[in-house]
Amino acid sequence: MPSLRKSLKILVAAGLLIWIADGFLLMRSESPRSAPSPAAETAVSTGPGGGARYSGAIHIHSTYSDGGGSVADIIRAGQKAGPDFLILTDHDTLQPRFDGHQGYHDGLLLLVGEEVNTSAGHLLALGVGRDVDQDGPLGLPALIDEISEAGGVSIAAHPTGRRPWTHWTDDKMDGLELLNGNSDWRDDSVLELLRAVVFLPFLPDGVFNSLIDRPNEAIRLWMHRAQRQPVTVIGSLDAHERIKLWGERHLAFPTYERMFGLIRTYVITGMELTGDAGVDEGILLDAIRRGSCYVVLEGYEPAPGFSFELIMGPETRPMGSTVAFQDGGRLHVTAPSSGPVRIRLYRNEVPLIDTEGHELFVEVPGPGVYHTEVYQLRSTLLRGERQRLWIISNAIRVE
Ligand SMILES: [Zn+2]
Ligand SMILES: [Zn+2]
Repeated sequence: MPSLRKSLKILVAAGLLIWIADGFLLMRSESPRSAPSPAAETAVSTGPGGGARYSGAIHIHSTYSDGGGSVADIIRAGQKAGPDFLILTDHDTLQPRFDGHQGYHDGLLLLVGEEVNTSAGHLLALGVGRDVDQDGPLGLPALIDEISEAGGVSIAAHPTGRRPWTHWTDDKMDGLELLNGNSDWRDDSVLELLRAVVFLPFLPDGVFNSLIDRPNEAIRLWMHRAQRQPVTVIGSLDAHERIKLWGERHLAFPTYERMFGLIRTYVITGMELTGDAGVDEGILLDAIRRGSCYVVLEGYEPAPGFSFELIMGPETRPMGSTVAFQDGGRLHVTAPSSGPVRIRLYRNEVPLIDTEGHELFVEVPGPGVYHTEVYQLRSTLLRGERQRLWIISNAIRVE
């Protein structure tokens, strides 16, 4: 029956056309909202609450371990992509620091930490001036003590990824990665990944943005821990610029520059950086340790104007604070953007308010762990309005 075969062909062709049209519109709707404004590119911006803020690309691998590029390549990519600081974290080595790479490179600050392989998973050890490992008889707790006593910061890398973090009993651990650019696309469906490959040459910005979704599992883990103690969260890249093919062959993809523009952690410091790398490392890591930072899907739009704070009478408490409950306290969120956004405020992981607009004031209803997420509203002809995660704050704990 030739007519049946013909109808089938037409049906398949129509289906394919719709799939292509839908994919194209979807990827276009995921594109950056506007070119970063010159203000967003400057090294220092002072946001609401006064403190200077700096955007960083965190968790980068070089040829010192399994990355595809040299430290010089990474610095060049950083200078093009425009973050204020980079944190290099090669596997089990601090050699780039000993070789003198930590410092300012034409205004871009490169900090050198280490990604330590432990029995519980991969751990970012930042701000420690010496190599650390888990070889001692006391194991992981001793390692975390050592990082803490050296004034460093310990952060569980890709805690819910392929190599999950499995040991959460140590109270001295500072935090965890909420996003990891090398892990987050892996839970996408085969169809989503196929669509990404098809549209990558045409709409690369949209394709990369489309692969990162709300990290539900990592947020659950964070909130579970945050009930008991402060836990800082960051957004990481795990940038390698290297995909292993076969033998010694590899592909230089995705590029460092691409990754540095995809996910950033904005750090709100109490003071401006000084230009002295040693001092500035302390300023940035102190702010990260106390949770004075937020995660931005930079590929959608930079977010230098975001704030989340608790206002109690004349006092304002920033992200990362733990405060005693008082009547009349108000939570305040601002999320300036060049387009429409929704602000969601969560209490103990449960949405408390979900509202369209760039600012939110709400009275604190009682004790709880509060955090906020901002979604950009993107619409396409075939799918209508979609909410895409743009910002995740650190928490304010009210006891
Ligand atoms: Zn890792
Ligand atoms: Zn890594």
